[in-house]
Amino acid sequence: MSLLPLKELQNALNTPKKAVVIPHKNPDGDALGSCLALQQYLNTQQHDCTVVSPNDFPDFLKWLPGADHIIIAESDLDNASSLIQSADVVFTLDFNDLSRAGLLEHALVECEGETIMIDHHIDPKAYATITYSDTVMSSTCEMVYNVITQLGGSEALTPAISSCLYTGIMTDTGSFKYPSATATTLRVAADLVDHGADKTAIAQALYDQGHLSRFKLMGRAIDSLEVIPSHATALMFITEKDKSDCHFKKGDTEGFVNMGLQLRGICFSVIFIENAEDQMIKISFRSSGDFDVNTFARKHFNGGGHKNAAGGRSEQSLSETLAYFRSLLPEYLSTLKSHQ
Ligand code: 5GP
Ligand code: MN
Repeated sequence: MSLLPLKELQNALNTPKKAVVIPHKNPDGDALGSCLALQQYLNTQQHDCTVVSPNDFPDFLKWLPGADHIIIAESDLDNASSLIQSADVVFTLDFNDLSRAGLLEHALVECEGETIMIDHHIDPKAYATITYSDTVMSSTCEMVYNVITQLGGSEALTPAISSCLYTGIMTDTGSFKYPSATATTLRVAADLVDHGADKTAIAQALYDQGHLSRFKLMGRAIDSLEVIPSHATALMFITEKDKSDCHFKKGDTEGFVNMGLQLRGICFSVIFIENAEDQMIKISFRSSGDFDVNTFARKHFNGGGHKNAAGGRSEQSLSETLAYFRSLLPEYLSTLKSHQ
């Protein structure tokens, strides 16, 4: 964990800079909210800052202030790479390992500007010239709140910046439900509401604009649900056929994995999602209590994240991946049972 490196940040930004801010691949509310908030703040401070995302993001985040100006590397790689190449300062937000930058990994390895990591995931890699890593923070947005208010005072919190930060804090804490949302997190959220974040409008934009096709897909996920009471585990899967039958769009499976944890006696929930385009199975892990899904994802599925929320992948078929997953559970029997 590192404390907010205020002096280093002030030095890095002491003259107008060309800056780029980058979220992880498949950016979520926290990644995009933190990037957009930081970009808007830097642009008020005479810097010239652009957000470059490795790939596109779901429709339910497109309303975020500034989202329409994000450069998407997947469809504009030359522009994205040259922005990174010519930047004085490159911020990497909500990830801590360059492999999480997808298409932008190479450009980041090669970039000559100062690299600044702001992130709350476990086990940060040492690639940045300035690292602000704090794994007990609820979200990268809470960290960017600290950065902006330390650098610019609370008057720097415009309604647009406040909305972006509030969005990331809310989405990364399960609407303030997870243990990672501390009393301080709630005070930060309250301050953001005081500075113009419309909490009701944000919740509606995120959660109440669903399409029927997403609910049909949720039905498929629920149909696939397998409960393993002996190991306090619930698993679901979605096939490519489910996706095409239900007119899948990016973001449609968001939150499905959490449903498993709503079952009595379940502390470990997993969803496996076939992804033919990337030739892999994308896996999301969630737990409640002490079962550490970050370690599980790292050890068995080439992934990582946080103790109670992590992701991973498998290059095997769906049925092989499910069989492998089931074969791992006995190893964790005592931990899973003791945390029910
Ligand atoms: P999700 O299941 O929502 O994709 O991700 C849950 C958490 O785990 C997020 O904090 C995300 O950044 C992290 N995560 C997801 N996939 C991966 C992965 O493949 N590697 C690592 N290191 N973290 C991941
Ligand atoms: Mn996050």
